[in-house]
Amino acid sequence: SSSASASDGAARDGFVRVRGAREHNLKHVDVDIPRDALVVFTGISGSGKSSLAFGTLFAEAQRRYLESVAPYARRLIDQAGVPDVDAIEGLPPAVALQQQRGTPTARSSVGSVTTLSSLLRMLYSRAGLYPAQQPMLYAEDFSPNTPQGACPTCHGLGRVYEVTEASMVPDPTLSIRERAVAAWPTAWQGQNLRDILTTLGHDVDLPWQRLPKKTRDWILFTEEQPTVPVYAGFTREEVREAIRKKMTPSYMGTFTGARRYVLQTFAKSQSAMMKKRVSQFMVGSLCPTCDGKRLTRAALSVTFADLDIGEMARLPLSALAALLAPFARGEMPASDAQEDAHNTRDRAAHRRETARRVQAGGSAHAAAPDVRRTPQHSPEKVIAAQRLCADLLGRVATLTDLGLGYLALDRATPTLSPGELQRLRLATQLNSQLFGVVYVLDEPSAGLHPADGEALLAALQRLKAAGNSVFVVEHDIATMRRADWLVDVGPGAGVHGGQVLYSGPPAGLAQIEASQTRNYLFDSSPRALRVRQKPISWLTLEGVTRNNLRGVDAAFPIGCLTAVTGVSGSGKSSLVSQALLQLVAAQLGTAAAGAEDGDDEAAPVPALAALGDDDPGAAEAPLAAATTGRIAGGMAKIRRLVQVDQKPIGRTPRSNLATYTGLFDVVRKLFAATPEARKRHFDAGRFSFNVAKGRCATCEGEGFVSVELLFLPSVYAPCPTCHGARYNAATLQVRWRGIHIAEVLDLTVDAACDIFAEEPAVLRALTVLRDIGLGYLRLGQPATELSGGEAQRIKLATELQRPQRGHTLYVLDEPTTGLHPADVDRLVAQLDALVRAGNTVVVVEHEMRVVAASDWVIDVGPGAGDEGGRIVASGTPAEVATAPGSRTAPYLAEALG
Ligand code: ADP
Ligand code: ADP
Ligand code: ZN
Ligand code: ZN
Repeated sequence: SSSASASDGAARDGFVRVRGAREHNLKHVDVDIPRDALVVFTGISGSGKSSLAFGTLFAEAQRRYLESVAPYARRLIDQAGVPDVDAIEGLPPAVALQQQRGTPTARSSVGSVTTLSSLLRMLYSRAGLYPAQQPMLYAEDFSPNTPQGACPTCHGLGRVYEVTEASMVPDPTLSIRERAVAAWPTAWQGQNLRDILTTLGHDVDLPWQRLPKKTRDWILFTEEQPTVPVYAGFTREEVREAIRKKMTPSYMGTFTGARRYVLQTFAKSQSAMMKKRVSQFMVGSLCPTCDGKRLTRAALSVTFADLDIGEMARLPLSALAALLAPFARGEMPASDAQEDAHNTRDRAAHRRETARRVQAGGSAHAAAPDVRRTPQHSPEKVIAAQRLCADLLGRVATLTDLGLGYLALDRATPTLSPGELQRLRLATQLNSQLFGVVYVLDEPSAGLHPADGEALLAALQRLKAAGNSVFVVEHDIATMRRADWLVDVGPGAGVHGGQVLYSGPPAGLAQIEASQTRNYLFDSSPRALRVRQKPISWLTLEGVTRNNLRGVDAAFPIGCLTAVTGVSGSGKSSLVSQALLQLVAAQLGTAAAGAEDGDDEAAPVPALAALGDDDPGAAEAPLAAATTGRIAGGMAKIRRLVQVDQKPIGRTPRSNLATYTGLFDVVRKLFAATPEARKRHFDAGRFSFNVAKGRCATCEGEGFVSVELLFLPSVYAPCPTCHGARYNAATLQVRWRGIHIAEVLDLTVDAACDIFAEEPAVLRALTVLRDIGLGYLRLGQPATELSGGEAQRIKLATELQRPQRGHTLYVLDEPTTGLHPADVDRLVAQLDALVRAGNTVVVVEHEMRVVAASDWVIDVGPGAGDEGGRIVASGTPAEVATAPGSRTAPYLAEALG
């Protein structure tokens, strides 16, 4: 299908020439893109920007690379990963920096992603201060991810997990029948365990606290698993009688102690939901052996600048830089090893003091002993320290320049936002000093306050100045203005897009009438996006402490749209996505348990779970209850809590738009009701690709098969039996209005609106999806192919199609990520619809047009990390726009016009 080739002609004139690109929705696109330039790809969501930048240009560069290193892989790659394009000329090798869609592993950290950890380990190995008698260690001995480095108690996790009677039996006044052992499974399996206890002669109606300790301990902690006859529904006496009479039991049941159940489920279950459920009964505590530093005692005995490597990794990067600066200048301000060996207590106190001072932003240098008093340091050590520190400092500077100085090396990557992670990887690339490469980036401005945007642009310019081409898919107007070249894709989304409307210097776009980007790039006059609402009441938080928030009070207007602003790292997410969510969920949880009114909507947990919150990363480690604070008022007006985030709506291609929104259930019933299906006795289950009877047996309903490649990521190829249809031939013979079930999954939302026009239950879901700008998506589009922005809008649409009863609190973290300004206008209209229906919406947001359109603004800051965490200003947009000391104010003022 592809005959791409490099040409000297194209290489010489400095352009990448694309001919006949047809990937996804691209309509035979021809375009010339300059190399050694900052090129920004624009267009509304779904127009085809990524299909061009990533799906075509990057995919082709990667294919050529793979082919050059592994010719044998060619046949397999041909089946799956070749972009649909006639030719690309003049294309250099490419590096993609995409926003991570999945969650990285729990063990990766800022230090490992940036490779700074390995430099730091080298520093400790070569230039660290070793206690007398302690032999020198290798760099790997300082890594918690190696067997020789990991703390033997916690295996390098830093925390140990246990279950206790209190954690598994939260309310000891309940009896076993009343589910005193909350950690046990619910439903049938829970009843089974209770019946087994009855057979074993225990009283399941006595309050837990009145059972003998021996019994309680056995039920909770035994490793024994006796198998006994179960007589369902019998009392203890009846069971005794039944056994005596040798009656046939209902079945034989096997007992499992609560601890065993919790730990086994946590370690072995495939279900993230199950893991998450049992994790609430586990208590994590800091590992007593390594104090959470994850390393062996030997590794932790080595210090540099009076800190062990675990303490060093906990410093914010900006503090780390201040600490290492003197060493990079060739000074060696370290303590005298022998002196310290005599007085370890002093030394520990001194180290604590150094850590405190450095944390507070000072330098360790001032109080450190003079370099001349440490004669035992060999010149080699000083030079090694100087080189390694200089290298570390250079790399750290790149990170702090990108506004990430508040992060510490030991920060786990799952706790970072996708934007932060992408900037970390961008910084790593800046440090790698490659040249002649195309960097392809996906919305690098995501998560950045406008005040941080300048540094990002400077970083991109640096990549370019080093002799690279920088191709960016971006919605940020400021970035577009600074581009050397714009490629505007459109005019619409999906089948209505896929054309290059313009390719040239930014100014020329002004002439292109079909472009939706043009309207925003050249006309910055403010638009009235909505009518402002007045608060019905206030939801007030008091004394919130979490991450960098220290005893913060905050008030959110109920019945309004509130925007929370502030620079990256200032504490917005800590306040909204962590503290507000947790405190409100906790209140609703207890209120819901107390009220027996059967209103399931009041329960926060199902609401969150229903939104696909199945992140297995989140279940890796039980959450430490790190939020303190309380809700002082307003909860009477909040009955339900919904978080709408950008996490995928599912992690496998088995979930898709149709299954997630629930409309596929209705469609399957329509198919089951056709005369053809009834004749064949096909029920609705027959039309699910997750059920064996109806689906293709070869691919088990996946539509494709995966091909494992040695040393390379596995690739997917269409299923040889069903060719991607997912169903078996008999199922496909049933048609509803002329189309079979696989064809339904192939419809776009727009097309489905026509076909299901007379089916109100299907149409309602479809209409909301179309109105929110997702008409171009196919119903069967796998969850894994959707962008974060699309996933978020699908969640929002699923909410909007619910009958609105108001009183719901919606929390969104940066909902405009991935959205073109035109899509942002649509999003604001949807949020406004929620507010007008009597709900409360709180968004964390950088897009000043959204902030300007809000009813209320809470500005957090003023800076990041320890320099932030306070509420700098709150009020109407106009009030915050003039607030002194707010870094948001000038940008908001501009947006208000
Ligand atoms: P943009 O980057 O402008 O938001 P995309 O290039 O991601 O747009 O998408 C363009 C069109 O291609 C959309 O209709 C989208 O649904 C579709 N699409 C995107 N990824 C895939 C894929 N992996 N398979 C099939 N279609 C896709
Ligand atoms: P924002 O949302 O404004 O970008 P955050 O609330 O994410 O800021 O972060 C505020 C501060 O709290 C930063 O110093 C950040 O490093 C820290 N922080 C945030 N989340 C975590 C976490 N899960 N673990 C440790 N520190 C965190
Ligand atoms: Zn440990
Ligand atoms: Zn198949």
